[in-house]
Amino acid sequence: MSAGQGSVDIDCVVVGAGVVGLAVARALAMSGREVIVLEAGEGIGTGISSRNSEVIHAGIYYPTGSLKAQLCVEGKHRLYAFCDERGVKYQRLGKLIVATDEAQRSALQVLLEQGRRNGVDDLQWLEASEAQALEPALVCVAALWSPSTGIVDSHGLMLALQGDVEAGGGSLVFHTPLLSARCIEQTFELHIGGAEPMTLRCRELINCAGLSAPDVASHIAGLPAQHVPTARLCKGSYFSFSGRAPFRHLVYPAPESAGLGVHMTLDLGGQARFGPDVEWVGAVDYRVDPARADGFYEAIRRYWPGLPDNSLQPAYSGIRPKISGPGEAAADFCISGPAEHGVPGLVNLFGIESPGLTSCLALAERVLKTLPPAHTS
Ligand SMILES: Cc1cc2nc3c(=O)[nH]c(=O)nc-3n(C[C@H](O)[C@H](O)[C@H](O)COP(=O)(O)OP(=O)(O)OC[C@H]3O[C@@H](n4cnc5c(N)ncnc54)[C@H](O)[C@@H]3O)c2cc1C
Repeated sequence: MSAGQGSVDIDCVVVGAGVVGLAVARALAMSGREVIVLEAGEGIGTGISSRNSEVIHAGIYYPTGSLKAQLCVEGKHRLYAFCDERGVKYQRLGKLIVATDEAQRSALQVLLEQGRRNGVDDLQWLEASEAQALEPALVCVAALWSPSTGIVDSHGLMLALQGDVEAGGGSLVFHTPLLSARCIEQTFELHIGGAEPMTLRCRELINCAGLSAPDVASHIAGLPAQHVPTARLCKGSYFSFSGRAPFRHLVYPAPESAGLGVHMTLDLGGQARFGPDVEWVGAVDYRVDPARADGFYEAIRRYWPGLPDNSLQPAYSGIRPKISGPGEAAADFCISGPAEHGVPGLVNLFGIESPGLTSCLALAERVLKTLPPAHTS
């Protein structure tokens, strides 16, 4: 790939082949653009997208009007429809959010109202006996029932998105990290590493690099530094449960400050896992410290006292790509396009933590709207 002065090699480059980068590349390809996805890793979904709870969230928790609220609710509907259309496996299991003491009843009431304001119109309040009729092993004083929450095969989803990118004429290249870029007269000159370092020119550049998005943005000459947030890393570890799953639905406690609380999710094979907890870290390290199990036993036994000793094994961890730190109000998704930073053709996605998986298709549509219509010459 080479280009003459002033010309471009390709319309659009997406950095990162996680679920968000793939959904964005799909939307761009379907809009008639030529797209290439640069991925530093060896394949799709080696980052956050394969280190999460795989839950299709209903859209309950997020402040009304925030991007998280809007894109989660819209994204959930889009995602279920996409999975049906493309044969991606999912299960609409439903979830219980539980109050384990009287003081948490008011927290559930707040969530119920928040969810309804966000357009989650199927939430139901359950008293303890009604919740226990659904889940006999559960101990709680009340619960919220969210029937539209589900689980999805995240890798199957990413494969289907990749298929659409390629069917739309786009391509993905692996082991190709974007090292730096500079904006020259409405085009970007990209410096790409890997086995065969190269230079590429494009008209539009979409940064979907997950945890590295702030770092990638800081290497784009011409982007004012005030438009690059500080990356904050918040690790969440998971433990798997060795026995038969205690619940048939997802069970969440009332939420914590930086996460949704140590919850029980099921994978599509019916195996239970618990997590993620909350640990602010300074560097990416995915090892799970077995000692964190102590906090899990304590948290889980508040709603499932029957959890046997020695039944949890360290499983995996993920890192939330936050842009707000401990003690600060949770930041919204940040889609920073030309209207925000003034660089034509550049969109940076920052802070795409949960519910980013649920929201991926809606996020992609939003990114598309920040750009002018596809160039058709
Ligand atoms: C613990 C945890 C639990 C979660 N649970 C849920 C959930 O249940 N439901 C939900 O909806 N959401 C959940 N999320 C959020 C969801 O997983 C993320 O929002 C989503 O996966 C983000 O996808 P992404 O494509 O932005 O990032 P990633 O999947 O990390 O993709 C970014 C890609 O960019 C690549 N990259 C980085 N730098 C460069 C570079 N310089 N050049 C080229 N490529 C580069 C990386 O290799 C990576 O593949 C959870 C997140 C965490 C951490």
